[in-house]
Amino acid sequence: MGTFRVTVSKDYLVFSSAHFITLRGHTCESLHGHNYRVAVTVEGPIDSECLFVIDFAILKQVVRRYVDQVDHRVLLPTRNSKLAFREEGDTTYVEYFGVQTYQFPTRDCAMIPIANTTAEMIAEWIAIGVRDDLRAGGAQLSFLQIEVEESFGQVASYSETLPSRTDHKTGDPDANE
Ligand SMILES: [Zn+2]
Repeated sequence: MGTFRVTVSKDYLVFSSAHFITLRGHTCESLHGHNYRVAVTVEGPIDSECLFVIDFAILKQVVRRYVDQVDHRVLLPTRNSKLAFREEGDTTYVEYFGVQTYQFPTRDCAMIPIANTTAEMIAEWIAIGVRDDLRAGGAQLSFLQIEVEESFGQVASYSETLPSRTDHKTGDPDANE
């Protein structure tokens, strides 16, 4: 028996953002930007009525939520221990090892709960959000992967094999949640 997988990689699943990565020790990249591209792949059982793994429209919509949060913004990793962020008025100040390094208009910042804005960590952040949103919507998925292309031909991905959940159709009919 084979498995079904669907992948979406569309022109509007792209985001243009500025970022910098903290490197080993006291080295830090300078601020620069990328045109990122996101692709999502999911695997799961075929819906017996519609005969798809998931409605493409729903998949696109859910991934788009995360793309929209970061598009045209400066990506700031709130869990990076070398960085500290301070918001004052309309400005967000960024300190690197206690030294003020950048200041940005707060409305142009995307504060992401990750430790560094590598393509890997961005992929994981999107994947977890998309997974939780799809599952909350009742999707039965066994695998999910997010790819983030930082520049042409340079891609990081994060994937998860998801344990199947018992639902009322296949589970014990007497069991309650
Ligand atoms: Zn970069």
